[in-house]
Amino acid sequence: MPDFSIAVDLGGTNLRIAAISAEGQLLDKVTLATKLALGPHDVIDQMCDAILRLSAKYKRSGKLLGAGLGIPGIIDMQTGTVRKSANLPGWEDYPVRAEIELRLGLPRNGLSKNVLAENAGPLALENDANMAALGEQWLGAARGVENMAMITLGTGIGGAIVLGGKIWHGMNGMAGEFGHVTVEPEGHPCGCGSHGCAERYASASAIMRMAREAIASGKAPSLAQAASAGAELDAQSIYNLAIQGDEPAQRIFHTFGRYLGIMLAGAVNVLNLDMYVIGGGVSSAWDAFAPTMFQELRQRSIVYAATAPDDVVTAEETATMWGQPPSAVQAERSSAAAGSHTERKTVVTRALLGSDAGLYGAARAAVLVA
Ligand SMILES: [Zn+2]
Repeated sequence: MPDFSIAVDLGGTNLRIAAISAEGQLLDKVTLATKLALGPHDVIDQMCDAILRLSAKYKRSGKLLGAGLGIPGIIDMQTGTVRKSANLPGWEDYPVRAEIELRLGLPRNGLSKNVLAENAGPLALENDANMAALGEQWLGAARGVENMAMITLGTGIGGAIVLGGKIWHGMNGMAGEFGHVTVEPEGHPCGCGSHGCAERYASASAIMRMAREAIASGKAPSLAQAASAGAELDAQSIYNLAIQGDEPAQRIFHTFGRYLGIMLAGAVNVLNLDMYVIGGGVSSAWDAFAPTMFQELRQRSIVYAATAPDDVVTAEETATMWGQPPSAVQAERSSAAAGSHTERKTVVTRALLGSDAGLYGAARAAVLVA
């Protein structure tokens, strides 16, 4: 049996714990309901019981390399506490790492609090989007890509930046907030206090808002019918209508793609990374939003236009690139194409690991921190 690490993905609904080998093989996975009502102490008790059971099972035959835990929210990397979490109410300032280390009997007894605060313990703690990025970078769409960003499209938008194979935390762990980049100056208010944030336009909740608006306008009969048919209207059912050709549903995803493209154009211009991986539940609607996303990206990002892979650039889109007449653009393209076999390309692509990305990332983080 191989050496392994324990990966934990703590969500507002599910608590998932897995044993994953050093080579990235999923050995075992346990999914439990997160009993948030009982408070953080009981959730951590439940988590640690499962961690101990899984490690005991595999420890007989392989070495335990460490444990990694992904948490939805802002993590204070220095103290190992949860600063803020919309999905874990009541966890603010909860010392997650210290509580877990205490229960698991990790080697910290007798050490002063300051020493413990140095993030040197065998438990790797990260924001869930960071874990998903590490997972995709280790075994998914960005395998072997040292410099990449991940954007997760769910109820909101999560984000992470990986530089040189490691998470870029920024000054205090708050880097990668792609969801709160302004894409519409006077736009919809956001929970963060700003308005017009990307996640107000390119997330599951944004799809639902646009669907409600379309229904209220009286010009979206299929959406109105789906909403009144008893079954709950959600992003998936709106996507199903879109791929069946319903125009109001298609317009929602075109708008979604457009704003996502505006946000990505800014990110590509600023970061000039090799790859941007789009993940999260809503990324499964890729076919419906990707065309307008790429169109916007090419029009708004000079860096992308200069580094886009040839296979996603079509003639019509090229003609409007930078607002230049087609002949000038053609010349621009020819010179770019002449050196294309030596130039590195900006790749924007779908995530590959689905909801398990966070678990693989947590396993990877455990090894990186060890
Ligand atoms: Zn915001």
